[in-house]
Amino acid sequence: NKSVYTFGGGANNNDDARSRDKTIVGGKGANLAEMAGIGLPVPPGFTITTEECVSYLAGGSDFSAELRADVATALTHIESAVGKSFGNNADPLLVSVRSGARVSMPGMMDTVLNLGLNDETVKGLAATSGDERFAWDSYRRFIQMYSDVVLGLDHGAFEEALEIAKEDKGYFSDTEMDAGDWKALVAEYETIVERELGRPFPQDVTEQLWGAIAAVFDSWDSDRAKVYRRLNDIPGDWGTAVNVQAMVFGNMGETSATGVAFTRDPATGERAYFGEWLVNAQGEDVVAGIRTPQYLTKKARETANAKPLSMEEAMPVAYGELAAVFELLEKHYKDMQDIEFTVERGKLWMLQTRSGKRTAKAALKMAVDMVAEGLIDEATAIRRVDPMALDQLLHPTLDPKAPRDILTKGLPASPGAAAGAIVLDADTAERRAERGEAVILVRVETSPEDIHGMHAAKGILTARGGMTSHAAVVARGMGRPCVSGASAVHIDLAARTLRIGNRDLKEGDLITLDGATGDVMAGEVPTIEPELVGDFGTLMTWADKHRRMKVRTNAETPADCQMARQFGAEGIGLCRTEHMFFDEARITAVRQMILADNEAGRREALTKLLPEQRQDFHKIFEVMTGLPVTIRLLDPPLHEFLPHGDAEFEEVAQASGYGVEHLRRRAAELHEFNPMLGHRGCRLGVTYPEIYEMQARAIFEAACDVAGQGEAIVPEIMVPLVGSKRELDILKDLIDRVAAEVFAEKGRTLDYIVGTMIELPRAALMAGEIAESGAFFSFGTNDLTQTTLGVSRDDSARFLAQYVEKGIYQRDPFVSLDIEGVGQLVSLAAERGRATRPDIKLGICGEHGGDPASIAFCETVGLDYVSASPYRVPIARLAAAQAAL
Ligand code: PEP
Ligand code: MG
Repeated sequence: NKSVYTFGGGANNNDDARSRDKTIVGGKGANLAEMAGIGLPVPPGFTITTEECVSYLAGGSDFSAELRADVATALTHIESAVGKSFGNNADPLLVSVRSGARVSMPGMMDTVLNLGLNDETVKGLAATSGDERFAWDSYRRFIQMYSDVVLGLDHGAFEEALEIAKEDKGYFSDTEMDAGDWKALVAEYETIVERELGRPFPQDVTEQLWGAIAAVFDSWDSDRAKVYRRLNDIPGDWGTAVNVQAMVFGNMGETSATGVAFTRDPATGERAYFGEWLVNAQGEDVVAGIRTPQYLTKKARETANAKPLSMEEAMPVAYGELAAVFELLEKHYKDMQDIEFTVERGKLWMLQTRSGKRTAKAALKMAVDMVAEGLIDEATAIRRVDPMALDQLLHPTLDPKAPRDILTKGLPASPGAAAGAIVLDADTAERRAERGEAVILVRVETSPEDIHGMHAAKGILTARGGMTSHAAVVARGMGRPCVSGASAVHIDLAARTLRIGNRDLKEGDLITLDGATGDVMAGEVPTIEPELVGDFGTLMTWADKHRRMKVRTNAETPADCQMARQFGAEGIGLCRTEHMFFDEARITAVRQMILADNEAGRREALTKLLPEQRQDFHKIFEVMTGLPVTIRLLDPPLHEFLPHGDAEFEEVAQASGYGVEHLRRRAAELHEFNPMLGHRGCRLGVTYPEIYEMQARAIFEAACDVAGQGEAIVPEIMVPLVGSKRELDILKDLIDRVAAEVFAEKGRTLDYIVGTMIELPRAALMAGEIAESGAFFSFGTNDLTQTTLGVSRDDSARFLAQYVEKGIYQRDPFVSLDIEGVGQLVSLAAERGRATRPDIKLGICGEHGGDPASIAFCETVGLDYVSASPYRVPIARLAAAQAAL
């Protein structure tokens, strides 16, 4: 197995599958090899494998002699392909050194361009290019980038030197700098390096190369890369590949250019080339948002009413070639591509292609369009859309009729609406968001160090940067609305204030962003509910066709049930009846019941609650007609309902007739040290049967009433926290007895079933026996996780993040099922349950029922349904289809 693979210049390693395997050579390396293989113009280069990165990081940051030899050989491949040699003073080869992980991590890791320049080769470059200015410009870029990325020097000093140089000359822009100016600046830069570092800028090109390779490897473990990986569930042990490639120059004068393009619009999915370019520039200028890039197509320029010519107009020949490449790449990859290119003196070169990041809206549109175009089939379209991304579409958008107090307009970099308090740095954004505040991160430009703040914020506003700046790319990937390049925004970080146009604002003031139009508005603009039609509806129809598992919802209010039905829920998988008791109007009666000394006292309070509960169920049955409704009997620790302050005790005293002192004593008796493992779940039903009696009565009375209106109702009554068959038997007898009483009173009968939750390890183990009494199992994986791991659901947040960071769990086990652990209990219980009762109905109603990875697991276990919170229902529908494909 080779450690280095070459590409381009006629050597494409077609025979070695590893050379195109993303896990080995990273996404960028694989696609460069692939593009070279289909005859596209790719500058020759080579890729060092991710395996080398892993062993470098594990082995104390050292390179093996073998790797050094392989790299030297691969370098000769580039040299002979371009006819230049590395470090040659007369005609030097320059290379770029870039990272490339298995999946793209935009802007998270390091890149060095123009490597191979030193005080001598710069003269050779000037001579062979015939362009003195270009050579010195390239050299100063190299020193600055290398110093920043490899030598760890702050780039501020270099920027300052450039600003002073321009000021001295009376220049406004970099383009006014001539060869002599750049040369002088290079001398200045070299002085800065020597001063800061205590030694001169490295002149040995081989030392430069290994320095850059080490920096790229090291950047895998940079803080920002770690944050990005955590947010995107990327394992820390993948490592990054390194791509070393012959430089091509977009900064060789007016016939040269560089750009970034998407084969379709990544924000809307529209079938139109989309991108930005800059004449006489290098790639970093576009991506970093330092110069304002220009439009790629004439149409886009005209739509935006912009002056600088589009590439289509300014460089028709190169643009024509580029457009042909777009078509070819889409056909080849059968997906929207995100491309980096350079034009060197009129010749087009491809530097990168990858499947482009896109918004959920764009992902849907592209998937549906590509099926219509015959590019992909329905199954591929279903697989293409990340279920979690649908979340972006399910949330409200700005009401078009609401008045907008527009402060300014920037670029519509990532769609969606967001309102929140202005915050001016990422740490503040994170801190305030943790307190539950909605915040908008406002920055001059976002850098990868801001990623945690971007994630914490509801939206992002920047003063600088284009549509393809990594801020925009990252925001789109995260689904955060983003308005970029709003140049009317002026921030005074020291004073924590900002000026937008002629309005003065300060940190904490409310603003609203419309990422689809670029509008920035004062205050909070009202929103409207999304419409789930069009491409969304089409894809969902396909998903429904391909999935096996049903999707239900966890809901207990008629409004939530209604919404879930609109989102496609096929029933209720969990109606948590205790949520109905938290209602202010009822809580006193609930407290009266709990604090009662005896059964008679409890019954008195329950009598007050019965009509309320009946009404609750009546409404839910009406909303869910024709669909199954699983109602869980009271579950929570009694402890949770205990009164707190004087006022609450006073209220209960009034309602119950007991004195406050008496009630306080009773509350102290009921206090629990470990309530989650205390007096809760079916233990309530076993010890205070009158509670479950009241609930069963409410259910059956409501069901009979609604059935009387001619609706089909099949209540599924669910007993929580069962650990033994005997518990279920006692409670099932009670439920059956109440049913018989109500049916006799109402003069009608109806079908119902009684089942149980499996949320204790003992229940999973005893599932074979429990299935004798229970007609269905619903896996309560929240409690099953808590009890199997011995980790409290309420306290885990304090340490679980570190557990995930250290790889003890791949993901938070309360978010994504611990398949290898808790999953075993689920499989085992399903098996044992089915062995007893082959037609037993199996579902899941823990939070995991809305998590795609957990849903995939449920498919393998053969569950009949998953149940998720209303907003997760569409996500679950799509994930269930992906799991079934
Ligand atoms: C569970 O434990 O997974 C469950 C659904 O019940 P609750 O979250 O209400 O305890
Ligand atoms: Mg539970």
